[in-house]
Amino acid sequence: MEGLKYQVDLLNAMNEKLAREGKMLRLICETSNSAFLYYNYEEQQLRTIANWDHFFDFTVTDMHDLGRLYDCVEEKYVIPLKEVLFIDEQKLKSQTIEVKLKERRLCIEVEVNVVYDTMDNPTDKVIRFKDVTKFNSQNDELTYMAYYDMLTGLYNRNYFVRLLGEYIRRAEEENETVAVMFMDFDDFRRINDGMGIISGDELVQMFGQFLSDLIGDNVIISHFNSDIFCIGIYSPCGARSVETIYRTIRERLKKPFKLSEGQEIFLTISVGVAEYPEAAAKTLELINCAEIVMFKAKNMGKDKILYFDGTILDDFLKKIKIENKLKDAVFEQNFTMYYQPQFHTTDKVLRGVEALIRWRDDNGKMISPAVFIPIAEKNGAIVPIGTWVIEESLRAFAGWKRKYHYPMIMSLNVSAIQYRQPDFIEKVLRLMEKYDIAPSEIELEITESILIDDFTDITEKLVTLRDIGIKISLDDFGTGYSSLAYLKGLPIDTLKIDKSFIDTVITDENTRIITESIIYMVKKLGFETIAEGVETEEQYRYLNEIDCDNIQGYFLGKPMPSDKIENLLADMTA
Ligand code: C2E
Ligand code: CA
Ligand code: CA
Repeated sequence: MEGLKYQVDLLNAMNEKLAREGKMLRLICETSNSAFLYYNYEEQQLRTIANWDHFFDFTVTDMHDLGRLYDCVEEKYVIPLKEVLFIDEQKLKSQTIEVKLKERRLCIEVEVNVVYDTMDNPTDKVIRFKDVTKFNSQNDELTYMAYYDMLTGLYNRNYFVRLLGEYIRRAEEENETVAVMFMDFDDFRRINDGMGIISGDELVQMFGQFLSDLIGDNVIISHFNSDIFCIGIYSPCGARSVETIYRTIRERLKKPFKLSEGQEIFLTISVGVAEYPEAAAKTLELINCAEIVMFKAKNMGKDKILYFDGTILDDFLKKIKIENKLKDAVFEQNFTMYYQPQFHTTDKVLRGVEALIRWRDDNGKMISPAVFIPIAEKNGAIVPIGTWVIEESLRAFAGWKRKYHYPMIMSLNVSAIQYRQPDFIEKVLRLMEKYDIAPSEIELEITESILIDDFTDITEKLVTLRDIGIKISLDDFGTGYSSLAYLKGLPIDTLKIDKSFIDTVITDENTRIITESIIYMVKKLGFETIAEGVETEEQYRYLNEIDCDNIQGYFLGKPMPSDKIENLLADMTA
């Protein structure tokens, strides 16, 4: 009896264990997102396990039912599927293939495992169906993203670089050349700001579409990012010469791009061209060269193509050097201020001074502000430099005031980047207070280009500054775009006639007529006039004759350090 009870207990325990394991197995199968077929050779019965319904709408019970599977899969998969389902005939243990279903666009991985006995006869077979659709399409997408740019469908930067590398390798072998055209939209920021990024993107897309027509044998085209496109040409000549391609592009740009919102946009681009092996021997260097040339094309007025030459690269490297030195200079404040006197024309009495920055680099070499200020504007260094200029000039000014009590004006050059700082006005006011300078003693010089780029924002600030009592002066007048009519609405007090007019005012009849009419009109508008760059007695006398209010230039005084200004003040107050 005891023995029997023991055996019953044991059987119960084994059953329970089996039930638990069965449940566990079912759970595992069901959460695996796969379906399984189990076949026992002895019973000759097929059982479906787990998610069969996800794949098929029929059941299978024996091997013959498998025939229905062949009707579901796409034609080309039928034979491979048959082979894998009957692998026991080839005495193989396992095999996997991928098939696609006909109507449902499902992608299925079919894996078969067979168990053999010691005599090599198959005993059990498990067939697993796994849905790999998502994985496959992700894979396609990843492949696509690795080579193409989503917005334009052109090659992306990385893939372009690889293909260009191939071109260069081939060119090296075949003694050929490879050209790179680096292209950038002109004023894309203004287009984007004006119409919104969506329209900007649409424009990029349309241009990209147009470019894709130019792809051909030995011509690859890429959208790098934003508004930058690059063309690589193997052995440029004939229909695929840089000139021909550029001509085709320009022809297209004569017509506007019509966006879906109805706007019509005229586009111009700047193009830089560099060729292997002349410009560079390495892929990335070649692209960089073309980019540098493109920047130069921009600086030369945009809407043009420019070809690499050695001097462009030299200039660029020089600029980089200055940029690096500039960083240290800002940190160490290696600057000094010079002041150039301005005089009332009629009596040569001192009106005020213009503050001009000077920079002597570590080697004692003078670097002109005309060179480093534009670089400082690009890399943002102009903000700390500009603040230093204002503080240093006002500090000197306060010293002169204390000593000489001479009523005069301090003119300060201020660049657009400084005006754009939200705390610019506050900063100026704080420094004025610190050095006890009245608003009427300060004049800020702006250039026309500032107004062109950011008209509303900057004019608003200028109006505020003028309301406080600070004078605003328009620098370099005549070099920019302004017409006299346009001047009427500007919040300015003073107009500085550019040196280029004064240079030829004696020798050139036309310049004389223009200068005279400028002075006549400007005085009618109520502005004060200053002639810049007056170098000779003759120029001075002429300007006096035509009633130009003030004179600035080497003739009456070069830019000079603070102590030299003091000598001048001593004379004036003697
Ligand atoms: P700008 O404001 O037009 O300054 C006048 C420039 O003409 C100065 O050059 C001055 O030295 C020069 N100049 C004056 N009279 C004569 C003359 O009779 N003959 C000749 N040949 N030149 C004369 P500088 O000091 O080299 O400054 C160049 C430019 O750098 C300035 O042009 C201005 O745009 C910029 N700059 C200078 N200092 C500053 C500054 O503190 N801040 C900013 N943002 N820009 C500055
Ligand atoms: Ca100036
Ligand atoms: Ca000027």
